[in-house]
This record gives sequence, C-alpha cells and structure tokens, in this order.
Amino acid sequence: MSRARMVRFSNIIIAAACAATLIGAPVRAQSDLARAYRVIASKQLVDLTHSFSPTTPVWAGFGQAKFSPAADPETKQPYTIPKDGFRATYYEMVGQYGTHVDPPAHFAENGITMDLIPLKQMILPLIVLDNTRYQTKDPNHAFTVDDLRAWERQHGRVPKGSFVALRTDLSKDWDNPERFKRAPFPAWALETIKFVYEQRGVTATGHESLDTDTTDKMDSETYILRSGHYQIEVMTNLDKVPATGALIVVTWPKVKDGLGFPARAFAILP
Ligand SMILES: [Zn+2]
Repeated sequence: MSRARMVRFSNIIIAAACAATLIGAPVRAQSDLARAYRVIASKQLVDLTHSFSPTTPVWAGFGQAKFSPAADPETKQPYTIPKDGFRATYYEMVGQYGTHVDPPAHFAENGITMDLIPLKQMILPLIVLDNTRYQTKDPNHAFTVDDLRAWERQHGRVPKGSFVALRTDLSKDWDNPERFKRAPFPAWALETIKFVYEQRGVTATGHESLDTDTTDKMDSETYILRSGHYQIEVMTNLDKVPATGALIVVTWPKVKDGLGFPARAFAILP
C-alpha cells in the first residue's frame, strides 16, 4: 500500500469509528437485549409447575375441579371436531388449584389482585433454600432462621428483590393425593418468612406444599399477603435448580380483580 493510500485508508477507519460512536447508544441497547436472548436461549429450563387435573390434590375446603366438554348453551350438545371443527373444555374450579399464585388480595381486604402485580415481579433471581437436609431427622421440619443463616454461610446473603423458594421434596408425592395432603408436613417457619421479607427485602416466596406453614392460623401466609407480597404454592422440581444463580419466570392469566389462579413457573438455569 502506498503512503497516500494508507492515509486515506486510516481516514476511512476513523470516519467509521466516529459513525459507530454517534449511533452507538441505540444499537447497543438493541444488541444487549438480543445478546441476553441468545444467552437465555442457550440455557436449560426447568418447569416448576405441576400439571393439574380433576384428581390432583387440593385443600378439602375447596374441593376437586370438574372438567367437562364445552357445550352449546342452547342445544347442550358438546362441541366436537367431527361435528363443529373444534372442541373446548369447561373448567369449574377454585382459583387456588394446582401450582398457583396467591396475590395479596387473597388474604388482605385492600391488597392488590393478581392482575395488578407488576410485570417486573414476574421475572426475578431465584434462590432455593434446602429443607430436605433437615428432614431425615424431622420429616416435618419447619425451616428456621438458623437454617437460613447456615445456608447464607455456604451460599452468601439472600439478595434483595429475589424470589425465594423452599425445597422440601413434598412435590414427589403429588401423584399420591392422600400422602401429598398429609399433616403435618415440611414448610416455612413464620420467623423465617418475616426474616426474608424484612431483613433481606425479597420480593416473593414459594414452596411445595398447599400451605405456607403448618399452623391452622396460617400465620406465614397472612403475613406475606398482608404485607403486599405474592406467593407461589405447590411448586415442583426445586431439586433440579441450584441454590443460587437461576432466574424464575412466573406468569398467570390476567383475571380482572382475580384472587388467585393456576400459575406457570419455570427456572432458567445459570
Ligand atoms: Zn394458596
């Protein structure tokens, strides 16, 4: 390359660099999200949700769901693909069925309903606390603040704004409703629920059982919902998620003024 051509060539490079700087901000914003998507798409996902049916475990006070073929209200004839080209299911069930969300309004007169939970609270860093290590000694162990402090010595402080799930492996009894609904069962201790919300500033919590804690007064659930947080109940596969480093995505239908509904939760592994 001649000297003159070399000068021209470096001018072109400088001009290109200036242009890139000028348009850099929006391009970078787009590519950040595209890069984040490529990262997420390369990760393993774990479903934290049970499938539910009319026979799956539910609190006796609500009763089992009923599923029936949707029918024409006038003729009472169920729609079928051969006859009508489509079919649909009519669901009759309580909102608190299967893996579900409890919004604050479930327990709090003035709490927000499920349609008003901010979208940003539906994708969060996921922390998994392990209660199973205490269950060989006591199968119905309630996870204590001391247990949490032991967990933090191993894994670091529970981060502010995270979703904290309690692994108990109770979900492995999902296909045996009587065993799944046993009482007592392993769950949270009220002091620990208060600690993670008040001292660690977490956004939401979840667990594998039908109830947050074992007391009939439902102290922990009352505390969570009346302090403006939501919870996910009847989670599964927490044994397939590491203690730290995963993300949780949790979503549910946008029922107007909804007091709870089956949810879909999954983890994006690190
Ligand atoms: Zn519930």
